[in-house]
Amino acid sequence: HPELQTLVQTTSFHARNQPTTPAVLFEGRTVTYEQLHRESNRIAHAVQAAGLTPGDRVAYLGKESEHYYEILFGCAKSGTVLVPVNWRLTAPEVSHILRDSGTRLLFLEEEFGPIVEKMPTAPPETVVGLGEPFVAWKASHPDTDPTPHVTPDTPVAQLYTSGTTGLPKGVVLAHRSFFAIRDALASEGLDWIDWRAGDIALIGIPGFHIGGLWWATQNFNAGTTIVAMRAFAARQAVDLIRDLGITTACVVPAMLRMMLTEPRVSAKDFTTLRKTVYGGSPISEALLEESLAVLDCEFAQIYGLTETGNTAVCLPPAAHVPGGSLMQAAGRPYPGVGSKVIDGEGRELPPGAVGEVCLATPAHMVEYWGLPGKTAETLVDGWIHTGDAGYIDEDGYIFIRDRIKDAILVAGENVYPAEIENVLEHHPGVAEAVVVGAPDERWGEYVHAFVVPAPGQRPSPRDLHTFLVPRLASFKLPARYEFIESVPRNPSGKILRRELRDRFWDDSARKVN
Ligand code: ATP
Repeated sequence: HPELQTLVQTTSFHARNQPTTPAVLFEGRTVTYEQLHRESNRIAHAVQAAGLTPGDRVAYLGKESEHYYEILFGCAKSGTVLVPVNWRLTAPEVSHILRDSGTRLLFLEEEFGPIVEKMPTAPPETVVGLGEPFVAWKASHPDTDPTPHVTPDTPVAQLYTSGTTGLPKGVVLAHRSFFAIRDALASEGLDWIDWRAGDIALIGIPGFHIGGLWWATQNFNAGTTIVAMRAFAARQAVDLIRDLGITTACVVPAMLRMMLTEPRVSAKDFTTLRKTVYGGSPISEALLEESLAVLDCEFAQIYGLTETGNTAVCLPPAAHVPGGSLMQAAGRPYPGVGSKVIDGEGRELPPGAVGEVCLATPAHMVEYWGLPGKTAETLVDGWIHTGDAGYIDEDGYIFIRDRIKDAILVAGENVYPAEIENVLEHHPGVAEAVVVGAPDERWGEYVHAFVVPAPGQRPSPRDLHTFLVPRLASFKLPARYEFIESVPRNPSGKILRRELRDRFWDDSARKVN
């Protein structure tokens, strides 16, 4: 539906053309497109009646439900900007987001009330409890169309990057971020990611994260049905896929791993799935190969950042050939998206050379909220400087090594954790691996490996070392191994490397990132 260019148009369009099609399925309840349209209209009126004007910030602190999506569209229709808050954050972190964004109205789930009470700052002027109070609050407002003045460049969401690399920054995204990639694919008739009438899409990634929000909006724009979960749980996800006949899913690699390692899960559980979209963190080849073996469907990898409006790069289904050379690629840019790799001085590097990946995408952020200096560093002449190390091959495929800030400097050589983790996970005794840099008097840093053994296995450091020697250059080899039970991750599946790394670095030696 190329005529749709703002989220304001999305629900009215489908309410007109397919009013009874389910938009959201959630815990046995169904919200049709007509209902989504009317309920979000009510919310828009209610937000305006609370005294908010276009550009004001509205925050949501709660797990997911159908109400989250009504609120998303309600905010869009009132011209306000939705600030979804990660519900795993602590009171000071939530306080930072609410204050930094200047939130005037907060939707709050009862469960998270104590967090708001513990905040060092006052809560926003209006707080609406989710659940019953929310239903009553919106019911007293009309379901007629509000008429906001909204263009594709109007801000609609402000997402705080999860903070794995410092104080969270508010990434402001306009409506265009949620339409640009769909248009890019359509411009060349590509079906790398496609949405088909009748699709039922699982939202695995939380809605406060760009991956979840992007996937949900793409499906709404296409008029398909989404299945929301309060919070991702692997068993429940597998059951939903099988029982509801889910056809598409968007997940982070950690979710794929969790689903595949659930007891008694088999290929039979996934027979309705036609496409799995995954991304958000590097995937190990071992996990990708296992996923291809169990899930009989097409796979598409997406790569991007909140700052690039989610995906700017995609590894199409055809590149998913087990053992093939592209299995470690993140993908290629969509039509109309520029990519380049630069060195520390900003000079463009030739194919194959590792440097910082930069992307020029029409879906890029408007700005970091209230941080013009940081915006100017990251968004330079339309190019987003990703902070990721990688290279582009002769055919334009981008290979991501890891975050530049996570690189381990061993005797002057950059070692990228994901590369070593990837190789370690090919060892049959290893379920998962994480490597970090630890201080080393002689070499600056050494590679320290944390290993989660595969069930019933206990590989020795010597086994692991012997396995790695023919596969990795000697400066990349871990000098120590440590066995752990599980890998600490944030809700979007990213490894919380700092949690594992910090104990090696006292304050004087702490790495500056
Ligand atoms: P913060 O920047 O505060 O740590 P965050 O990392 O959670 O927050 P995102 O914008 O979600 O914020 O993360 C983007 C990063 O995720 C990319 O820069 C990259 O490092 C990683 N990433 C995303 N997709 C892929 C992928 N397909 N392969 C490898 N890495 C990926």
